[in-house]
Amino acid sequence: MKHIPTIQSVAGNPRKLATLMQTHKDWNESPDVLTRLTRRLSTTLSLETQMGILAEEINDVIPFDCMTYRHQIAARDFVYATGMGGPHRCDYRLNLEGQFYGSLTFTRNKRFAEKEMEGIELILSAAICPIRNACMYLTVEQAALTDALTGIPNKRAMDDALARATSLGDRHGQENSLILCDLDRFKAINDRHGHIVGDHVLQLAAAELQKAIRTSDEVYRFGGEEFAILLPQTDEADARVVADRIRQFVNSIRVNCGETDIEVTTSCGVAMRLQDESTDQWLARTDEALYRAKAAGRNCTRVFPAINPA
Ligand code: GH3
Ligand code: MG
Ligand code: MG
Repeated sequence: MKHIPTIQSVAGNPRKLATLMQTHKDWNESPDVLTRLTRRLSTTLSLETQMGILAEEINDVIPFDCMTYRHQIAARDFVYATGMGGPHRCDYRLNLEGQFYGSLTFTRNKRFAEKEMEGIELILSAAICPIRNACMYLTVEQAALTDALTGIPNKRAMDDALARATSLGDRHGQENSLILCDLDRFKAINDRHGHIVGDHVLQLAAAELQKAIRTSDEVYRFGGEEFAILLPQTDEADARVVADRIRQFVNSIRVNCGETDIEVTTSCGVAMRLQDESTDQWLARTDEALYRAKAAGRNCTRVFPAINPA
């Protein structure tokens, strides 16, 4: 059987230990670009940080004006760009073991010589494994923040976004509003048509919500048949308009089930965050507004006013 050296056996061998110390020193202090690049890339799993490192190291050897990296990860576009254009370009597709890990484009004012393009390729071949790891990490991270049924951000993503909105609101006095949107009598749809049809309705509702909002707003699946929409820089009057539009969009859903079409309505609660209000208090007021919409007969919007009317 092959003897596998243990850490102890290395430590017990002064010659090997001295070599290890020297190698470690060389590796850490090496001025050569590939060693420095791989050492730096191995310190992070952030694709954005990795792209910054890659741009720096390539630019050191083969100067360029602009580097752009693009990749689609978990149905989202990841784009990293540094610098400004130039008419001459070279493009690379990053592949490893049959898998695609994005495309890179370099541009500048001077034509890229053949040797320079070969140089970029060499650097990229040293960077591809760490880039693959960062892509995989981002994929897992995105999956943890995405609802599997509807493909929209989940409650965990929403908690992060609310915490960010709360701290931005306090720091810059920014107005943020929240809409909670709960499908009406959804249990009856499940009971009458089955869970699979219910799931389909949830997917359609999530798609309609996304169509109804502005690009600056974000929809989250808050719970079973409940969705939340965070509206940055929006007061309660504008948020109410969005909530009513959401209700119209959801109401346009038609699912044909033999002799009847399923119709879907939703109730919405709206609250604008108050200065110094905690995320939990803000959520509780929005939930109270939703409760009032349900109590008022459903298929309507209620706002929890920031200032109580006199
Ligand atoms: P209300 O108008 O008061 O909101 O009535 P409702 O029937 O919508 O509310 P209730 O809370 O009584 O029922 C919610 C239902 O949503 C019960 C639950 O089985 C269903 N539900 C939750 N998550 C899912 C899911 O992922 N898929 C399906 N098909 N149903 C779900
Ligand atoms: Mg409901
Ligand atoms: Mg509910």
